[in-house]
Amino acid sequence: MHNLIIGTGVSGATLANLIANVLNEKVLIIDKKEHIAGNCYDYRDDNGIMIHKYGSHIFHTSSEKVWKFVRQFADFNQYMHKVVAIIDGIHTTIPFNFNTLYDVFPQSMARRLEEKLLAKFDYNKKVPILEFQKQDDIDLKFLANYVYEKVFLHYTTKQWGVSPNDVDGAVTARVPVYLSKDDRYFQDKYQGIPLEGYTKLVENMLEHPNIEVRLNTDYKDLKGSFDRVFYTGAIDEYFDYKFGHLPYRSVNFKFEEYDREFYQKNSVVNYPCNYDFTRIHEFKYYLNDKSEKTVIAKEYSEFFELGKNERYYPIPNDENTVLYKKYLEEAKHLKNVYFLGRLGDYKYYDMDKAILRAIELFEEIV
Ligand code: UDP
Repeated sequence: MHNLIIGTGVSGATLANLIANVLNEKVLIIDKKEHIAGNCYDYRDDNGIMIHKYGSHIFHTSSEKVWKFVRQFADFNQYMHKVVAIIDGIHTTIPFNFNTLYDVFPQSMARRLEEKLLAKFDYNKKVPILEFQKQDDIDLKFLANYVYEKVFLHYTTKQWGVSPNDVDGAVTARVPVYLSKDDRYFQDKYQGIPLEGYTKLVENMLEHPNIEVRLNTDYKDLKGSFDRVFYTGAIDEYFDYKFGHLPYRSVNFKFEEYDREFYQKNSVVNYPCNYDFTRIHEFKYYLNDKSEKTVIAKEYSEFFELGKNERYYPIPNDENTVLYKKYLEEAKHLKNVYFLGRLGDYKYYDMDKAILRAIELFEEIV
């Protein structure tokens, strides 16, 4: 059997490895870009700092299966991500939690709110902001409006071009109000950064005598026939946009280098209410890279435009789901062609979910 995989991101690389390794079949894996690893791509710059070219990637999973799979290809450090946000000039942590409460309000007020919250919610509960807004108590209503305005409203408007009420609830639910003292961004059992970076991790997945990697290659220019095709590119592009374009958000990173050890106190600092960028990434934190210089990226969100920028985020809403389903129906008529990944499935996957989807597709096929 000869397999073709389009896209060398984590979805494609996972499948390539499983097919080559477990089935002992040949795989040709191609990518339009000049590098592997898709948007997980990272590289060490001249200062020895590992740069995440397409923005910060933090690996986190609660899936034993995924963790076991990725650890074959990389050792990970024990980095646990925290996000600092600057709210009215105050440095605090996101998701909004009990520490945030005491950071932004006077003690007595924070205590009153804390007591009311604990009377109403179980400790450690995560409450999506759209649900959190449904409060009867006057103090909790004030708090809900505060969190909505200071954390979500402006950030989401910058990130998605619309208010939190007009993006799918699952998007803002990624960063809930967290009734906890846990300051971490993720609560997954396994968290970390691959010690040699994501590019190396993907390279190791693709290092197999059955796998041939071809970069700078568009599948439309490819000759030859294959027994199975796995497509991790945009599903609408595969069908030449016959039903219309599936919209995406894109991101523009403005990189800056500074002649000092650190730019900010944390790897990611969110600016929900200020400036036009959403957040600033400082990459040296992830692997504890030592350098007298530092590199940051300011993240500006924008609409995806074909030929101008890259696809980053599918935009989940009813209209786009209807359009996606038309393509999905079309895909069902194809024999031995499979779609996966953020772009193939039009789903806002984290890395671990993309890997799990690839593993499960593999299991389905065999
Ligand atoms: N969000 C927000 N304020 C923040 C952080 C997140 O409003 O300070 C919302 C925003 O809509 C964002 C979503 O929560 O798109 C998910 O955030 P996450 O950090 O998970 O996004 P990613 O890192 O995948 O871009």
